[in-house]
Amino acid sequence: MTLIRSERLQALPPYLFAEIDRKRRAARAAGHDVIDFGVGDPDQPTHEFIIERMIQAVRKPENHVYPLGGGSAEFRRQVAAFVRRRYGVEVDPQREVLALIGTKEGIGHLPLALVNPGQTVLVPSPGYPVYRVGTVFAGGEPYLMELTEETGWLPDFDRIPTEVTRNAVLMFLNYPNNPTGATATREFYERAVAFAMRRNLWIAQDAAYNELYLDAERPPSILEVPGARDVAIEFHSASKTFNMTGWRVGFAVGNAELIAALASVKANLDSGVFGAVQEAACEAYAGSERPELERMRELYRQRAEVLCTGLRRLGFGAAPPRATFYVWARVPSGYDSMTVCNRLLDEAHVVGVPGVGFGPTGEGYVRFALNVPVERIRVALERMGSLKW
Ligand code: PLP
Repeated sequence: MTLIRSERLQALPPYLFAEIDRKRRAARAAGHDVIDFGVGDPDQPTHEFIIERMIQAVRKPENHVYPLGGGSAEFRRQVAAFVRRRYGVEVDPQREVLALIGTKEGIGHLPLALVNPGQTVLVPSPGYPVYRVGTVFAGGEPYLMELTEETGWLPDFDRIPTEVTRNAVLMFLNYPNNPTGATATREFYERAVAFAMRRNLWIAQDAAYNELYLDAERPPSILEVPGARDVAIEFHSASKTFNMTGWRVGFAVGNAELIAALASVKANLDSGVFGAVQEAACEAYAGSERPELERMRELYRQRAEVLCTGLRRLGFGAAPPRATFYVWARVPSGYDSMTVCNRLLDEAHVVGVPGVGFGPTGEGYVRFALNVPVERIRVALERMGSLKW
């Protein structure tokens, strides 16, 4: 029988990293020492205090059953306490917090709760691909909000036509931003909330990198802005903050109706976050911030400094990110991002992600994830230095 993929699956944007992936695997199979700046996945293990709590939690029979619901009472209480401590925002743990199996899951499912076929969702470009994918799976139409260097990689709401917003129900934002490393201010969030209220649409702000700030300013939460709770939810992730990508845990916080709608989708499609993982996440978010987090930021700062200095010498435009662990480097003039990444891989066995894979305005940039130790970054730069641009 011939399998015909659903129109939904066929409607997904082409996977632009496929060729790079294939080459990466081929280079490894051929025995080359590949240095991989591709995946945004911490190379350091989960912090010990979290693992210790997990070991105890996994032994408890009450954690062996379907967790169900939007998170344990303790998980929601700890999240609410974290949000109060870190952002000065009071949230109701029962109505305004929802445990997620990683934020990707929540982001992917949210359009199913809000978007009818043919309705528009505003998504940032360049951007994390799941905003588009979730929209397409729900039958919605993504409208790409172009982010550019000139506007600090922030969308210009005035440039979005009213014909578009008339049909729009949801806008995704993502600060600190993947792939550009840009951050947003409280004033920007005020503008975003005012725009959403004026145009009658919901905001989903993806704060997966909020705790990975590399400069002095700690990124705010959109919920700090008056009125945000009427129109917005925010996604937070334990993945990058605590080196827990494999554990799959995060949360949504904000507007109670949005939380309830997303919870309703989830109740029908999944059975919640493993109870022991929720307990371990409670340990991660409990109390004042642990020194391990600042040590990770310092590690990323050092890596960013070494990589950016080296890249600039090679003719790239690169500055350390304000937050996230991504360096968003402008390619040497006369090249496009795909050609540069192909050459890096073929000739230096170095993997970077072509910016065009994140959307058309990502053309001209390459994303390097800082999940590579400094010594290896130096080796990569040395190899790249022998290429002629
Ligand atoms: N949001 C952004 C912007 C990301 O880059 C990622 C992962 O790379 C995620 C969300 C998903 O994170 P997780 O599902 O691990 O919480």
